[in-house]
Amino acid sequence: GPLPNPTAHPTDCGGESVSTTIVEYDLFINGEWVSPVAGRRYPTANPYTGETWAQVGDADDADVDRAVKSARTALSGVWGTMTGFDRAALMRKLAELLRRDAARLAKLESRDSGKLLREMSTQTAYLPSWFDYFGGVADKIQGSTIPSDRPNFLVYTEEVPVGVVAAIVPWNSPLMLLVWKLAPAIAAGCTIVVKPSDQTPVTALELALLFEEAGFPPGVFNVVTGNGPRVGQALSAHPKVDKIAFTGSTATGALVAAAAAKNLTRVSLELGGKSAQIVFEDADVEATVNGIISGVFAATGQTCMAGARLLVHENMHDEVVRRVVARAETIVLGDPTEEATEMGPVNNQTQLAKITSMLEQAKAEGASFACGGPGGDTKGYFVRPTVVTNVSLDSALYREEVFGPVLAVATFTSEDEAVAMANATEFGLAAGIWTVDVRRAHRVARQLRAGTVWINAYRVVAPNVPFGGFGQSGIGRESGVDAVREFTETRATWVELSGATRDPFTIG
Ligand code: NAD
Repeated sequence: GPLPNPTAHPTDCGGESVSTTIVEYDLFINGEWVSPVAGRRYPTANPYTGETWAQVGDADDADVDRAVKSARTALSGVWGTMTGFDRAALMRKLAELLRRDAARLAKLESRDSGKLLREMSTQTAYLPSWFDYFGGVADKIQGSTIPSDRPNFLVYTEEVPVGVVAAIVPWNSPLMLLVWKLAPAIAAGCTIVVKPSDQTPVTALELALLFEEAGFPPGVFNVVTGNGPRVGQALSAHPKVDKIAFTGSTATGALVAAAAAKNLTRVSLELGGKSAQIVFEDADVEATVNGIISGVFAATGQTCMAGARLLVHENMHDEVVRRVVARAETIVLGDPTEEATEMGPVNNQTQLAKITSMLEQAKAEGASFACGGPGGDTKGYFVRPTVVTNVSLDSALYREEVFGPVLAVATFTSEDEAVAMANATEFGLAAGIWTVDVRRAHRVARQLRAGTVWINAYRVVAPNVPFGGFGQSGIGRESGVDAVREFTETRATWVELSGATRDPFTIG
């Protein structure tokens, strides 16, 4: 494909180094780096230093249109003639390149999102597995022959690519949440237009370089950066987009689905959550405390699957809270790029303001803070790890997604009560069960309305395991072999074998 324009994307990002001067990126459309039609750019900042470190294209409807056209055209070009085997080979090559560049991508990701380099390093190192796994699926996407109820018919189905996929992703794990969509979509033979979050646009653009290097035909992978509502709505409402794969908040997901409904565009939505960690009397306390810390304080609580509600048996409340607080108070806040740091800042000013106001409201309503709380001695976008007890089950803090390092604690006395409390939410993304009683663990798991249940574990994901939510946590599943079906249409073909004519005025 054409070479990237060296004046419009960073040339100093080779090897392990990451530039310290402001770098500029164009949009990536049809295998080329192109300026937005209106010629605008916007700055993206490092949430830890607050400094602008890159300028990216600020696209509008005309650019979205260009990107969708490029993706459409690519469907009927070389890409459309490639077999699943060809796509698998390209995907394996891409996995190799991602492996080579994982450390560099982790640095860029951390710089753009403020998330721990340590976390991003494990995340980028894991990304190739999605392309390996779905590369393995690409050459096995098959229909079936359907035994016919008539002797003179052969009936078979094929799974064909749905077409142009719009991938709209958030800032909290920018590359990973993109790859969850890309790998099955490409395996299925689709083409893609990506709209990364305004806050974290860079790594999707960097991924474009790897798509080119791997040898994907131009137009298979396109990136349009810019204002979330403007570019996101232009894509969601575009009549030539066949499928929208969205990850983000429940409110935005509903706007995407509404725009898509006008064209009856297919959507899958990975949305927010308010997941419960259920701790029974017989739990292994050490493992439980570790799982609770990981569930809500890892990634500064900015994960859809955050275990943000701790439902603990009343006899265990004091011990579990005491030990969670003891560990929370030793969490090292600081520079996300430093090895010793355990929690970085939240991603942006709006998030900080939202979290602070939710904590203040809870305080005004009489909640207690076992640690953390609003205000304090933190600078920049930092929020201290916070454990809230005596919180009303009707309060916003207990019911709504905070998307920050805030744990709301409530107690139960019976297993039935625990299940009812866990399910008393409009969300249904994930849940954790902590008990060493194997019967109870499975008995409770099968009653939970959540897309993922972890037993004596939390925050584990893999390419081969479906992930997604019940209720307001979303529609559809990512990862797992069936994720490829989110990106295919089924065609059933009927073949009459006898040549006999039939009554034209009946069915069957
Ligand atoms: P967001 O909903 O604000 O934005 C998500 C994406 O949509 C961004 O790219 C944004 O620019 C774009 N967007 C904004 N307005 C739009 C509009 N009107 N139409 C179309 N697109 C629009 O979410 P966020 O703040 O970036 O991310 C945090 C949220 O994502 C949290 O609620 C979290 O729970 C959720 N999330 C869910 C999962 C999951 O898999 N279920 C994973 C990670 C994050």
